[in-house]
Amino acid sequence: MLPSRELSAFRKRLLGWFRQYQRDLPWRRTRDPYRIWLSEIMLQQTRVTAVIPYFERFLERFPDIHSLAQAPQEEVLRLWSGLGYYSRARNLQRAAQELVLRYGGVFPRDVESALALPGIGRYTAAAILSIAYGGKHAVLDGNVARVLARIFAVRGDLRDSKRWASLQKSADALLAPSAPGDWNQAMMELGATVCAPRAPQCLLCPVSRFCQARKLGIADVVPERRKKRATESVTLAVGILLDSSGRTLLLRPPERSKGLPVNGEVPVLVSKMWHFPTIVVQADAVKELRIHLSEILAGAKERGTLILDDLPTARHAVTYRSITVHPFRVCCSELPRVAGAKTVPLSEVISPSTLAVSNLTRKAARAAGAGR
Ligand code: SF4
Repeated sequence: MLPSRELSAFRKRLLGWFRQYQRDLPWRRTRDPYRIWLSEIMLQQTRVTAVIPYFERFLERFPDIHSLAQAPQEEVLRLWSGLGYYSRARNLQRAAQELVLRYGGVFPRDVESALALPGIGRYTAAAILSIAYGGKHAVLDGNVARVLARIFAVRGDLRDSKRWASLQKSADALLAPSAPGDWNQAMMELGATVCAPRAPQCLLCPVSRFCQARKLGIADVVPERRKKRATESVTLAVGILLDSSGRTLLLRPPERSKGLPVNGEVPVLVSKMWHFPTIVVQADAVKELRIHLSEILAGAKERGTLILDDLPTARHAVTYRSITVHPFRVCCSELPRVAGAKTVPLSEVISPSTLAVSNLTRKAARAAGAGR
């Protein structure tokens, strides 16, 4: 840890830099816990520039915790559509409902109550409580951990549980008690803009004189790269049924699709949202998709005459999975009636205005739309 004189100089320099150079972001113009919370959830695994339009649209429709709690889940997912990691949206709404039920729609001020809410872990709780309420909780995420590892020249895998706990202690000790919210944001901002994972810009760094990694000439190699989980390749076959008026069939989100066949990990890959009939291909996409469609369409008159029109494949990535999406157009004179499914114009899946669909489903819809 830094000696106390150095510690106070470190805090002064970093806070001064942040107050002068911070990026102007919509969630930095408020101390409203709901807005801070929403931004923190949207920013998980997602770039700032991608989040901004979603953040603004979401707040236009759900300006407060009450409106979010009362909304149909499908509408919440629709406004999240394209941002990915949809469990974040579901947890956000469940937490809003708990907040209305237990706290009158006010975000709690204590860390235990915040941690008890769905989708809120230690990092998110610390960020919300420090920024919205000035709570003295230091954040530790990948960005902050990298900055700390360089300041104190920490070697080894930062996600090792003992090392992570020790980094949390360093973060707690550095936290500026007079301005915890600004402090946390300053640490995150430094990691996001200056102390970047590759090629840190030490010449622009407000705290470079305190940095051990820079002194030792190891800023480029700290932290050590983690071994990446091997990429898993998955091929999906997607059946886009289309009638002559351009309407298509969508199945219910899998968690509610009792009675309909679901295949392997498809429910995860289609993000539990409205989706086309989809399978994970084992060997023969056409044969396996045909069997799957026959099961779904059991009893429908189109069942025996399915012609699968091969469309260009699309690529999709979800965490460690590299997904090849193989769409097939299946023209029908009439869309079959399937319990729990709905029929909508294909254009509504390509550019949804009321539907909650994942990017993967939208990509398959685009392929079918382009090939018409
Ligand atoms: Fe990061 Fe360089 Fe600043 Fe050290 S001096 S904290 S490595 S940007």
